[in-house]
Amino acid sequence: MITLPTSVQIAGNEITIKGVRNLVGPSDGDGRDGHWIPGKLLIEINTIMCDEAQLTTLYHELFHAVLDVMGEEISNDERFVEAASQLWYQVSKTLEYD
Ligand SMILES: [Zn+2]
Repeated sequence: MITLPTSVQIAGNEITIKGVRNLVGPSDGDGRDGHWIPGKLLIEINTIMCDEAQLTTLYHELFHAVLDVMGEEISNDERFVEAASQLWYQVSKTLEYD
């Protein structure tokens, strides 16, 4: 079982990260794995998922948060956010140090 981080700083904004068991999305059928609520600077992750799914969802929601802090409308493009965040997750997992 993973321990999710509880907060992160993005350009001076403190984002709160919460694990929620059986998360209910803000709209029907959407956001049940996790969601980013810009108005509350809050990311919620459904902790009923396996560790890997929680982490990839966290990266997805963090990517939304970064783009929103940057004022980038591409944050609304779910396909882009999903692809870019998964690649960024892979990058972070495979960094090697000699
Ligand atoms: Zn999304």
